[in-house]
Amino acid sequence: MLSFWEKDSYYADTDIVIIGAGLMGLWSAYELKKAAPSLSITLLEKNATPLGASTRNAGFACFGSLTELISDETTMGTAAMLSIVESRFKGIQKIRANFSDEAIQYDACGGFEAIQNNHFTAANLDGHIQYLNGLLAPITGSHQTFCNATKQLNRYGVKAFDHLVYNSFEAGIHSGKLVNELTNKVLALDVRIINGIEVKGWIKTGESIEIATQFGQTIKAKQLIACMNGFTQTLLPQLNIVPARGQILLTKPIDGLILKGFITGEILAIEY
Ligand SMILES: Cc1cc2nc3c(=O)[nH]c(=O)nc-3n(C[C@H](O)[C@H](O)[C@H](O)COP(=O)(O)OP(=O)(O)OC[C@H]3O[C@@H](n4cnc5c(N)ncnc54)[C@H](O)[C@@H]3O)c2cc1C
Repeated sequence: MLSFWEKDSYYADTDIVIIGAGLMGLWSAYELKKAAPSLSITLLEKNATPLGASTRNAGFACFGSLTELISDETTMGTAAMLSIVESRFKGIQKIRANFSDEAIQYDACGGFEAIQNNHFTAANLDGHIQYLNGLLAPITGSHQTFCNATKQLNRYGVKAFDHLVYNSFEAGIHSGKLVNELTNKVLALDVRIINGIEVKGWIKTGESIEIATQFGQTIKAKQLIACMNGFTQTLLPQLNIVPARGQILLTKPIDGLILKGFITGEILAIEY
């Protein structure tokens, strides 16, 4: 049972409850507070620190590799693919407008995609690069978003791949510091963050929503925003959101490595 003080502070009625203090939950709180400073917002995070993709990703400031965009265009169409790329590109600009490069270790080193695919000939690789560069030019402001860097494969010591594509707009970013800095920004806007509290469910009662947590405390809100990403299924199974597996390979420092920048490898089974 909550004390009067707890009920009147941490668990007080609020305009909005956000579930999940990853990047999505934090940016949502930030934007809402900026748009309407008088809104009261409580952010509930089930772990002591945010424990999802936001602090466990690869640390690329990226907006889609060549093969990812080819695949997205096939599945969702050109307009939808470009709209997502534009949002991601603007998102990176927004991050840089809000935080200094030093604070989040933003390193504009560019990025590579190593492609292993027997069906992807040098000629059609150049065709895809040219095509996507044309589509992306209004977004990136450059006609050379992607460059064919296959000739550099040996020089960089990237073995067992057939093609290498360079994207000069990609960068490295320190995901832990980004989440930390954003958390501080959100706290400064008077958003209440409670860590170590798992949301177990909610019920709508009249105009308000009663949110139930693992320890039996409840919070009343007018609106609820769920930013649970890969954990969405636990509370919203009807949405059929299935997390994809992401994998990052880390090595010890490699002596003499001259490749500077981030590298993703894609093994495609798509016939081009
Ligand atoms: C392996 C991997 C590598 C990636 N690499 C990159 C990259 O290099 N560049 C890039 O731009 N993107 C990358 N991404 C994608 C990016 O990290 C995610 O899209 C982004 O972090 C999602 O943020 P989010 O806030 O939606 O989710 P998350 O960061 O997953 O946050 C969800 C939060 O909700 C909390 N939560 C869940 N359920 C509850 C509950 N019931 N009650 C309370 N809290 C709850 C969790 O604890 C978690 O903190 C990568 C993703 C993965 C998995």
